[in-house]
Amino acid sequence: MAFDIVTKNTIRDRFKPAPRPDVWKDVPDKDWNNWIWQQQKRIKTMDQLEKVINVTSDEREAFAKSHEMFNMGITPYYASLMDRDDPNCPVRLQSVPSAGEIVFADTDLEDPLGEERDMPVQGITHRYPDRVLFYTTHNCPVYCRHCTRKRKVADPSSSAANKQIEEGLAYIQAHTEIRDVVISGGDPLSNSDDRLEYICSRIRAMEHVEVFRLGTRNPVTLPQRITDNLAQMLKKYHPVYVHTHFNHPKECTLEAFDACAKLADAGCIIHNQSVLLKGINDKPEIFKELNHKLLMMRVRPYYIFQCDMAQGISHFRTPVQSGIDIIEGLRGWTSGMAVPHYVVDGPGGGGKIPILPEYVKSHVGKKWVVRNYKNKEFEYIEP
Ligand SMILES: *Cc1c(COP(=O)(O)O)cnc(C)c1O
Ligand code: SF4
Repeated sequence: MAFDIVTKNTIRDRFKPAPRPDVWKDVPDKDWNNWIWQQQKRIKTMDQLEKVINVTSDEREAFAKSHEMFNMGITPYYASLMDRDDPNCPVRLQSVPSAGEIVFADTDLEDPLGEERDMPVQGITHRYPDRVLFYTTHNCPVYCRHCTRKRKVADPSSSAANKQIEEGLAYIQAHTEIRDVVISGGDPLSNSDDRLEYICSRIRAMEHVEVFRLGTRNPVTLPQRITDNLAQMLKKYHPVYVHTHFNHPKECTLEAFDACAKLADAGCIIHNQSVLLKGINDKPEIFKELNHKLLMMRVRPYYIFQCDMAQGISHFRTPVQSGIDIIEGLRGWTSGMAVPHYVVDGPGGGGKIPILPEYVKSHVGKKWVVRNYKNKEFEYIEP
């Protein structure tokens, strides 16, 4: 018996390329698709930004008051996803300074996650028993306005020198309880392929390390960075987990799809860590659409982070209830694969603490009364 294999209507066809604004209409595709070109043409000033969108006076003022403290940097690709006229565009809110940034709330913390406190050597945060965060650079293609590490990122004086990399590697080597290394930054893909390969190969050569992950936003802000060369390099060091950071369905373009496909085809396992951001993604419908798109891109939703109490990001913070409502709106209503963990990072270094809607109605002796997603109650009796 013969079957016709249907190849039309691929999932890829459902993703659209980023629209190219007029300023870049004449750029040859070979430049536009080249990550070095994208990196070199990053938007860093208001004059450059004005060629792409209609900048508001609020944005201009916020830029003037904030850029000394935290640079603006936006790749042409990511800028092309911005709405020209709507200052509340989710891509714009994540990358263009806004008035809220210069307001420091009295509850804001300089080091909200106590990362310095748990730093045995520069560049390593060792908080949990069996895994560490390893900072390998302080640069990112786009500086996210909601970044928790604002005080570190984009600060050339704190750039991870080779000496720091060596000290970090030596620490991991010496601590045989470490079985999982989160290679972070900044964005580790801001390292050259060679430097990244050096780091991956050193970690992979350690007998006690089982897995490592790359925490990178490049698939979102600079998908061109995911080259065949990079994917083939990573393939040598499996198991490699990639933890990326999509926050809004608008970011799920054809370019992002292709970047994730390259990583997945090379055998990387991709997870997504979103940050819950007011006015950007603080609705169950938005997360449902985002997570459905991510699953089609072979990316598994992993975490939704409650926005940290870092300085200058309080305008992005939502009530904790918004996160609970999002989980309530997902669990049961859609694939379990589309339901990430909602976590609050305990201020001062408590680590990630999960928060869930209450599904247990009562628990007396052997009897548990639980409710399902439709609020219907069930009794479970223990043996
Ligand atoms: C988030 C984080 C990790 C990794 O946590 P998982 O829950 O395993 O994803 C490790 N170390 C630090 C300091 C972290 O903040
Ligand atoms: S990519 Fe990550 S580290 Fe870099 S600015 Fe964005 S949130 Fe911060």
